Amino acid sequence: MDTYGVMGDPVEHSLSPPMHAAAYESTGVEATYLRFRVGEGDVNEAVQGASALNLGGLNVTVPHKGTVAALPFVELGEVAERIGAVNTLDFDRGDGEGDSDSGEGDGDDGVVRGYNTDASGALRALERKTKVAGKEVALVGAGGAARAIAFAVVEEGATVEIINRTPERAERLADDVREVGEATAHPLDEIDDVVPDADIVVNATTVGMEEDVSPVPAEALRPHHAVLDAVYTPVRTRLLRDAAEVGATTVDGTWMLVYQGAEAFEIWTGEDAPVEKMDAALREEL
Ligand code: NAP
Repeated sequence: MDTYGVMGDPVEHSLSPPMHAAAYESTGVEATYLRFRVGEGDVNEAVQGASALNLGGLNVTVPHKGTVAALPFVELGEVAERIGAVNTLDFDRGDGEGDSDSGEGDGDDGVVRGYNTDASGALRALERKTKVAGKEVALVGAGGAARAIAFAVVEEGATVEIINRTPERAERLADDVREVGEATAHPLDEIDDVVPDADIVVNATTVGMEEDVSPVPAEALRPHHAVLDAVYTPVRTRLLRDAAEVGATTVDGTWMLVYQGAEAFEIWTGEDAPVEKMDAALREEL
């Protein structure tokens, strides 16, 4: 029986355990998935301890994704390195099973590998409803989720317009993304000019979680838009309801959460993830 888990602080409300439990049940993988609350100063010891305890892998959530990416003994996958954040750790336990099918680099047994599946999770969520290559993406936000999404869509061949409340943060992110593709930064007061012409609109701010408000004015939304909201509590945010009202295509944040978990499951077990089962388990919790 393998043990997996999620480390963060707070972590009590993480929805990953039921989602992974559903995947184990559906595939017959014998494993358990736990929550681990780890304080800011204990991240290094927690990862080394998890490795020493022969855990199969760990998901990493707020606020530790950047700290884990900077640990000197974590071998970063290409995407995690570019983004500077790790949300999935894989412990190669020297049992000869290896992880060469994970797609993000190989190595010797005994190493700790760090991946970022938020990026591919967002991409797979969008691709349920729209092609991303060649499209223009209006991305609202410049924090951790926005960073993963910006790199994911640009590496897929889209261009990204980053709109953020703190313009300097948008500019920094656009500068970094320009190393791999096309990106432009905008202050929040340009949102009405940028959004209508985009093909895809993504909210990667926290706006819409606490209150029933949208970060994107409803008047800027168009029927040709595909709209992804990274916020998943509530599932039908104000932004998604506004988008549906003008006839736009919508993708809710649970899909991003499901696909980042699915990708972690695939890295750890080498099996195809039962995405629909994981999604059903998650929606039951929400
Ligand atoms: P973060 O790093 O703290 O970034 C927060 C972002 O929201 C920043 O761009 C910030 O702008 C902006 N913001 C906050 N309050 C705002 C306001 N009142 N008006 C305008 N902008 C505001 O957070 P994060 O980790 O990126 O998470 C962002 C959201 O994505 C959260 O809701 C999180 O739950 C969600 N998320 C979802 C998934 C998923 O799988 N679905 C995965 C990761 C994250 P400033 O730069 O100006 O502060």
